Amino acid sequence: MDHASSAAAAGIEARRRELAANLDKVRRRIAAACAAAGRDPEQITLIAVTKTFPASDVRLLAGLGVAHVGENRDQEAAPKAAQCADLPLTWHFVGQLQTNKARSVARYADVVHSVDRSRLVSALSAGALRAGRTLRCLVQVSLEEHAEGRGGAAPERVPELAAQIASAEGLELGGVMAVAPLGADPAPAFERLAQVAAELRAEHPAATIISAGMSGDLEQAIACGATHLRIGTALLGGRNAIVR
Ligand SMILES: *Cc1c(COP(=O)(O)O)cnc(C)c1O
Repeated sequence: MDHASSAAAAGIEARRRELAANLDKVRRRIAAACAAAGRDPEQITLIAVTKTFPASDVRLLAGLGVAHVGENRDQEAAPKAAQCADLPLTWHFVGQLQTNKARSVARYADVVHSVDRSRLVSALSAGALRAGRTLRCLVQVSLEEHAEGRGGAAPERVPELAAQIASAEGLELGGVMAVAPLGADPAPAFERLAQVAAELRAEHPAATIISAGMSGDLEQAIACGATHLRIGTALLGGRNAIVR
């Protein structure tokens, strides 16, 4: 190996160790939260939210046993997913989604967490059919009053959207997703989400996913029944850009 490539290899190895240590910490937090809630950690799916981080990090995480990755912008996610197409990963799209990006997202995403309006259901269905794929869709629930702009459907709109997803070709209803309100205690919001999820399961028994919990609130999310955690910072470190 020449100097440049051995320096690069050393850099990759240092990053691998850092990600391994972060992953270990997150897994311990999940185990402790599950023990406190009387839940089995096997019921929890950890999604590494890799937005703003390079495909090389996705590759390292896959090597460490991470099977699920999440992204929030199509422009970034599409090329990253293509660069990682050889890895056995499930791709989750977790960000607000413009209708005109649905066709692209349908080509690589396995699960879309942010379905919050009718027009998006039709666009994703058309995209899935065109790509010859099935997309699992979660209804994003808004847990704040007057939360225009941050995405999410009001809880009372969930049944209608869920029914639309369940009957759309190329789509499968997976459950619900929410982001806790900024700067507030996340527990009441996650409890409300659990209630919305229970009502949804009464109609659609297979829609068992509750996507809730990020780096700062995964314990509260687990206590309230979350099945899928979306973890960025605690695994990958701080992001420079304020991309959300
Ligand atoms: C960025 C992002 C996350 C991860 O947030 P962290 O606080 O970095 O863990 C989770 N969910 C969504 C929708 C995101 O955009």
